[in-house]
Amino acid sequence: MTRVIDLHTHSSVSDGTDTPSLLVAAALEARIDVIALTDHDSTAGWEEARTAAAGSSLTVIPGMEFSTRLGWQSVHVLAYLFDPTDAELIAETARIRSSRLTRAEGIVHRLAVDYSLTWDDVLAHTQEGATVGRPHIADALVARGHATTRSEAFEAILHPRHGYTIPHYAPDPEEAIRLVRAAGGVPVLAHPATAGREAVFDDATLKRLVDAGLFGLEVGHRENTEKGKRMLRSFAERHDLVMTGSSDYHGLGKPNRLGENTTDEAALERIVAEGRGSDPFAP
Ligand code: AMP
Ligand code: FE
Ligand code: FE
Ligand code: ZN
Repeated sequence: MTRVIDLHTHSSVSDGTDTPSLLVAAALEARIDVIALTDHDSTAGWEEARTAAAGSSLTVIPGMEFSTRLGWQSVHVLAYLFDPTDAELIAETARIRSSRLTRAEGIVHRLAVDYSLTWDDVLAHTQEGATVGRPHIADALVARGHATTRSEAFEAILHPRHGYTIPHYAPDPEEAIRLVRAAGGVPVLAHPATAGREAVFDDATLKRLVDAGLFGLEVGHRENTEKGKRMLRSFAERHDLVMTGSSDYHGLGKPNRLGENTTDEAALERIVAEGRGSDPFAP
């Protein structure tokens, strides 16, 4: 029997709308066998997910989606099975979350000039301690009637071209990859071939990330272009990188459905064999 494996999901610990417990319930309902919990810059959902999955048929791979920056481009690095108590990783993700908070307040300040919106509106859509991002601001804009969906708020208001969005601190992807490796984790580049981004990850750039310790590429993702996926597969084969596929589920925050893209068993086995910082939460 082949297992259904989805290695990229978000909970309300970042910008998903399901709590970790509800995410586990949704995965069981969708007949998924393995999910990775990969909240942005946070491991705060691990324990709740572990508890919720205990005694069920679901395996949870503990993970995170690390925010990094390459020049002006935001780049996401998925990290699996690292040690969540690693001091350097904790310090770096705390720095990112703190900068995200300051930056979100700054964005709301700018928005308030043209839209009725307060910081309290944003807090009302953010779980205590969560990694704050533009999705929470988008939800607040929707609640105020300035947009009808999170996606529409992004397109119409929060896209950088509209001038409200401010960047937050994020390390270089090579630095993030090194930190994940030093914590015993397995770094996989998230959705590297989204529209307009194929040029960012040319062979030379990918090669530098491989030299820093990159282990895999997320090829199966709804936002990767077909041309981009062909390029990624070719690169992965030449450099013996693992290829993953996943939903990037955000609950009601995005149309992405659990299991819409999946990872094969052999790829998961390689990731689990490589991870030394923590163990899967297995039945
Ligand atoms: P931030 O990290 O705060 O800049 O926000 C980026 C996050 O917003 C990503 O992780 C996505 O989950 C989400 N996002 C980006 N674009 C959209 C969109 N068009 N609709 C819904 N969510 C989006
Ligand atoms: Fe997100
Ligand atoms: Fe991402
Ligand atoms: Zn994601």
